[in-house]
Amino acid sequence: MRSARDWLLGGVILLLAGFMAVSGCSGGESAGGDGHEHGVMTTEGEWHETTSGPDELPSFLLRYADRTVDLYAVVYEHMDILRQLNCYCGCMDANDPHDSLLRCFLVDVQDDGSITWTDHGANCGICLMELQDAVAFAKQGKSADEIRGLIDAKYAPADL
Ligand SMILES: [Zn+2]
Repeated sequence: MRSARDWLLGGVILLLAGFMAVSGCSGGESAGGDGHEHGVMTTEGEWHETTSGPDELPSFLLRYADRTVDLYAVVYEHMDILRQLNCYCGCMDANDPHDSLLRCFLVDVQDDGSITWTDHGANCGICLMELQDAVAFAKQGKSADEIRGLIDAKYAPADL
């Protein structure tokens, strides 16, 4: 024979078990529940997001102005020039330094063609202005060397 107290205890344990099962389930759902934010935050505070290729821009750009989106849209086609340009926003002196202006927008192109983007440039007026100038110079038919010289002349600190 079980006493009333045993029944009560059993009920409390069942309630607890049920509560834990529910909270565990909702925790698991939230990890893949939001379809808009596919990315990781780096230790440098950059948001990195990978897309299938140059025609699919990262979803974080939805939070930015059209001008910013338009500039990200031409990064891929100007990769060869951008990777030869210096960035003067300070990112090249960071703990995990950027090796070129390209890295302020595009982190990596994988073998399958997918692209990892960063929101660093979207948050940085200097990166965006340099990109805008570089693309304009490229449209004028200037070479990568010429563009690097023009960018350095305009953005490099005077004491260097
Ligand atoms: Zn930068």
